Amino acid sequence: MASPFAHLPASIRARLGELDTSWLDEERSTCSACPLVSEGEVGVAYPFSMAREARCCTAQPNLANFLVGRVGDVPAVRARLAERDGVTAWGLRAVTGYDDTFSQRAKGGFGRDVSLRCLFWVGGDHACGVWDGRSARCRAFFCRHEHGLAGAMSWSQAAGLGVSIEATIAEHLVTTLAGAPSADASPDDLLAWYARCASAVDGLDEAEALAIIRAVPPATPAAPVDRIAGSPRGRLITKLRVQRRAVAEVLVPAVSATQRHGERVLVAGYSSFDAVSAPPSVFALLARLDGTTPWRTALAELGYDQALDESLVYELHRVGALRDPAGSDDLPETE
Ligand code: SF4
Repeated sequence: MASPFAHLPASIRARLGELDTSWLDEERSTCSACPLVSEGEVGVAYPFSMAREARCCTAQPNLANFLVGRVGDVPAVRARLAERDGVTAWGLRAVTGYDDTFSQRAKGGFGRDVSLRCLFWVGGDHACGVWDGRSARCRAFFCRHEHGLAGAMSWSQAAGLGVSIEATIAEHLVTTLAGAPSADASPDDLLAWYARCASAVDGLDEAEALAIIRAVPPATPAAPVDRIAGSPRGRLITKLRVQRRAVAEVLVPAVSATQRHGERVLVAGYSSFDAVSAPPSVFALLARLDGTTPWRTALAELGYDQALDESLVYELHRVGALRDPAGSDDLPETE
């Protein structure tokens, strides 16, 4: 699995330590054959599905100057430069107002509202016109997670860290490279600048890399060199990545939503995009999980069968639709 920091320069990655290694393959997120689009096309309702023309690219990530330069002069970047709004020497930011309303609009539109769609969207397998230069925000996004919410949170925290590092690198380049273009520079001049940024970032020396690491928010100039891995956020990412929740003998329902579809019921815990397909008899099982009855006893009372078995319980637990009432499933938090 590629690290969510794989696009950062080697001199920066060298300072990320364990945060840059051993990320899981999230094999449930088969992007080129999106499982949520497939669900939508057999009639599963939103938010248990996504629209083919929107998918998870219903967001507008910023693209720092050196990442634009990595992509080069491609149609998606040319089209974005023509828009002008949000185009500077720093890179390509979301257009005015987009971020202000995103949270509210995404509640009902993420995965289906085409008007929220990324300006780099081109359709096709990965749908992305800037794939090689895409931000950590996109590299770390998966709709389904091998380790449920802990997995989702580890990727989300890594995305936040990656975006902060990207932004700090972009600011460093604007400050230290001569000849940063004005916002009204021609597309060709901007492209030439972004290409210079991509080239410069690969040549960052140790002192520059250290200065950048120390400037990543929250900046603490006196902090130790390894403070990203050792920072509260770094430590939280590590804890989330290693969390492997045992399935307790007693579990209780923690279902956030359900959706009937034909002979199936989709049961959600941490996310409707990572729901479990179950037979309708799952409700009889949930009703028996009263906080004292072991789930194996409940299954036995119902009579194990092909549709209602231990693997279904493990899946419901993975997505957080079942949890340990004693709290062993609770996520780690920052100090
Ligand atoms: S940059 Fe690419 S992967 Fe990221 S949201 Fe835009 S189109 Fe999708």
